[in-house]
Amino acid sequence: MSETSKQNVSVVGLARENVQQLTPYQSARRLGGNGDVWLNANEYALAPHFELTAQTFNRYPECQPKDVVRRYAAYAGVQPEQVLVCRGADESIELLIRAFCEPGKDAILYCPPTYGMYSVSAETFGVEGRTVMAKEDWQLDLPAIEQALDGVKLVYVCSPNNPTGNLINPEDIRSLLETTRGKAVVAVDEAYIEFCPQATVAGWLKDYPHLAILRTLSKAFALAGLRCGFTLANSELIDVLMKVIAPYPLSTPVADIAAQALSEQGLALMRKRVAEVSETREWLRQQLEQCDCVEQVFTSESNYLLARFTASSSVFKTLWDQGIILRDQNKQPGLSGCLRITIGTRQECQRDIDALRPLPGATYTVRETSSASKEPM
Ligand SMILES: *Cc1c(COP(=O)(O)O)cnc(C)c1O
Repeated sequence: MSETSKQNVSVVGLARENVQQLTPYQSARRLGGNGDVWLNANEYALAPHFELTAQTFNRYPECQPKDVVRRYAAYAGVQPEQVLVCRGADESIELLIRAFCEPGKDAILYCPPTYGMYSVSAETFGVEGRTVMAKEDWQLDLPAIEQALDGVKLVYVCSPNNPTGNLINPEDIRSLLETTRGKAVVAVDEAYIEFCPQATVAGWLKDYPHLAILRTLSKAFALAGLRCGFTLANSELIDVLMKVIAPYPLSTPVADIAAQALSEQGLALMRKRVAEVSETREWLRQQLEQCDCVEQVFTSESNYLLARFTASSSVFKTLWDQGIILRDQNKQPGLSGCLRITIGTRQECQRDIDALRPLPGATYTVRETSSASKEPM
């Protein structure tokens, strides 16, 4: 063994055991690719323009920048003391685990197929990630969840769900909140709520001290690079999270731009973007339904579409080779043959369709012994 590899082995061996075992989140950026049409990370296709107004870079920033908190509260229809701003919704996911789950003892629960960071964050902290598969219609399996709640301190519900695109039935979220009262926190991940604002559960905060809602500026606000997200909850829960958050979670430029994005003008631009993305999504859906290689396009309330393909791996590869990068969901439980397509510009979606159109549909095996067994492969 060479000197350097000896050193590497020893330092890796010093890491916590669950960190040694950990597979990090396979973000779209980490997965890479050489595309010019990026439809794999649910980003907005075009960069909004901002200029910095703050110049006080010699000073530490406010822990909870007042303008940002006040504007987000007004936008979300809650009180400023019900808002925590942090480094993206991903940090909200982490803060909740850090604050509520005892490593090696407590568990989180989530319902695959869903967003990958719940499990990765739990693993990082040495907290059990318990799963209850969603039902065939991708709604919550409430009886199974109730059976599995022993030791669970935190339940993540993603609505609209990434990557399936469906909303979770609000009555089911209410039932879950009733079942978990006094036992566990329910975190409703509303990263895509701007695409279906009527579906928010923010109005329920007054009824549930154990409800936390996750929000972000990464999707409809077109600011994934800013790294800014929010947790909405009653002030008692927010105060618990304040104990574990970093002293300066947001840099001064981030707070500056976030405040601008939440101005009247910023909100109007966001709503215009949402309308345009939703229109493009419906166009793309109709086009996909006419492609031979597409088996099914699922209903979506978000800025992406999930579709099942007859041969998803070769479809993925063919588009990849043409510089069109989609997100492969084939490995997720219940999503065999599925690819997720972010709604890009109309031109990007056209490229997508132009590449998919020529691809063949299901091939049929004709078994000579039995004419009845003509099944699609
Ligand atoms: C994108 C996404 C997040 C993370 O948002 P950031 O604010 O960029 O960290 C959280 N949850 C879901 C469901 C997402 O799709």
